[in-house]
Amino acid sequence: MTKNEPEQQAHERPVRERLSAGETWRALYRYFRPHRAAVALGALCTLIGAATGLAQPLAAKALVDRLGSDESIGGIILLLTALVVLGTAIESVGAYVLERTAESVVLAARRTLIGRLLRLRLPEVERTQPGDLMSRITSDTTLLRAVTTQSVVSAVAGGLSFIATIVMMGLMDVVLLGVTLGVIVLIGGAVALVMPKIAKATERAQEAVGTISTALERAFGAFRTLKASGAEERETATVQAAAREAWRHGVRSAKWQAVAWSSVGFAVQVSFLAVLGIGGARVASGAISVSTLVAFLLFLFYLIDPVSRLVEGVSQYQVGSAAIARIVRAERLETEDVAGSAEQAGRQGPAAVRFEDVTFRYREGLPYVHHGVSFDIPGPGMTAFVGPSGAGKTTLFGLIERFYDATGGRVLVDGRGVHEWPLAQLRSAIGYVEQDAPVLAGTLRENLLFGAPGATDEEIREVLVRARLDALVERLPDGLQTLVGHRGSQLSGGERQRVAIARALLRKPRLLLLDEATSQLDAVNELALRDVVAEVSREVTVLVVAHRLSTVTLADRIVVMDAGRVRASGTHEELVAADPLYGELAATQFLATGEDGMIRPGR
Ligand code: ADP
Repeated sequence: MTKNEPEQQAHERPVRERLSAGETWRALYRYFRPHRAAVALGALCTLIGAATGLAQPLAAKALVDRLGSDESIGGIILLLTALVVLGTAIESVGAYVLERTAESVVLAARRTLIGRLLRLRLPEVERTQPGDLMSRITSDTTLLRAVTTQSVVSAVAGGLSFIATIVMMGLMDVVLLGVTLGVIVLIGGAVALVMPKIAKATERAQEAVGTISTALERAFGAFRTLKASGAEERETATVQAAAREAWRHGVRSAKWQAVAWSSVGFAVQVSFLAVLGIGGARVASGAISVSTLVAFLLFLFYLIDPVSRLVEGVSQYQVGSAAIARIVRAERLETEDVAGSAEQAGRQGPAAVRFEDVTFRYREGLPYVHHGVSFDIPGPGMTAFVGPSGAGKTTLFGLIERFYDATGGRVLVDGRGVHEWPLAQLRSAIGYVEQDAPVLAGTLRENLLFGAPGATDEEIREVLVRARLDALVERLPDGLQTLVGHRGSQLSGGERQRVAIARALLRKPRLLLLDEATSQLDAVNELALRDVVAEVSREVTVLVVAHRLSTVTLADRIVVMDAGRVRASGTHEELVAADPLYGELAATQFLATGEDGMIRPGR
């Protein structure tokens, strides 16, 4: 983070942090390194192609020389043709090798990023914009294409022919070379000042592209709300503003690139004038001959090509460095280690869960959500967590799944701290049903198999019956192959909830975390699911964040939470008698969806 960035952006640090020139170079080199040989081959082909081009005038000269004599010219014509064909072939091979390498660099960058982004820790994701992260994979990586290949080749080829031409000029006249270099250094210095501006403008343009993705993601993520709120025009304006911003910075980058490019011609023209003036004087004084001056001027024009290549190489490097900065910052976000076997390591039977004086806050600077939570759930059965909204019930599940790390105290599963578990193993023991029951785009079958890709058809059938989804599947013309739409939008809320439960059960969890929906199930299904959960809880440890009296009365134990603390625990009868808050909740909140099966608004 730069020193003068505003305070409130501090939490975005790794996403906005500037890269030093050395870091940028090393990051680019990391992608370039595996392709050194291919780039060298491409460069070689390009040079050979250019050289065969140079050989043609020589062959033509030989041809003209023989025209007067009786010697056959067939051989030379053949040679010329062969040269043209060979030169073209080699050049196109070179171009292909370079383009292919460039695509491989893009692929490598994308693979690395994709591999990391889906393993990011939750707190990292929460403080970034997913749309922006996505644009780093799709858009920024493509900017690497040119920098690692063409830019290198341009710089190397340009550098080599620059040196060769300079040497030739030095052989002609050192004084005139001095004049030429003097002009080039002056104008080159000015161009060097412009170069970082290209990088900066490109980075701003890419940030704006990220903003486009972010804004679109926000709109599509709440598309119904967007329509219902009549927000189409405003959101369109937001996205268009971001697009305009990308345009503005893109144009700015183009402007600086144009300045850099045109200054090459300018430098040569100025050198030409200077050489003409000073060279003329030297010819007059007899220091050099006229032919030397002419030859020198010709070389001066040969210089345009290598200098343009050098400038091109450097300006492409600027564009690439803008992209690499955004890519590296995304790569630096903290990931989880979910590698390793998800096998449950031979452990069978219900899991035990224990919280020991757990304190937790989501981020530094935010208030504590848990102030020393302790409870012990040794074995199977259903435990209901109840309490006012915001008491920290859902957060408990995030700590058990280790989406977040407790700030203090210990969270234990099977007597072992969640930190000591290999993450994949810990999570494979758990089935988690979130409150908003996410369903992914795709088929019903894919959704069910999401957490248990190896489940058999028989197991799927069983779980469908358990989650009361069998009737629904039978009714659908495509059955399990039915597409459920973006976020399952073609399913009802209750159906989504049951799909989520079926998915969790298919994992054969030893611990089921169920964040009960507040008001999504109809009465029949609610009672049916209650039976399912009760049935499951005979073999599996079930933790429910409960919003219904029907769930709570079935629970083997109830933990009452209030403002980040455990306030009381016991059975329904015990708590009604002993805890006034629970009595109040039972009388008001839970009764909202009472035993009569009527659905009324929850909390
Ligand atoms: P409950 O489930 O009891 O309603 P939660 O555990 O969902 O309560 O939330 C407890 C507190 O933590 C709330 O004040 C909520 O605003 C806050 N909170 C929840 N999730 C996050 C998050 N991802 N980042 C920051 N604060 C959060």
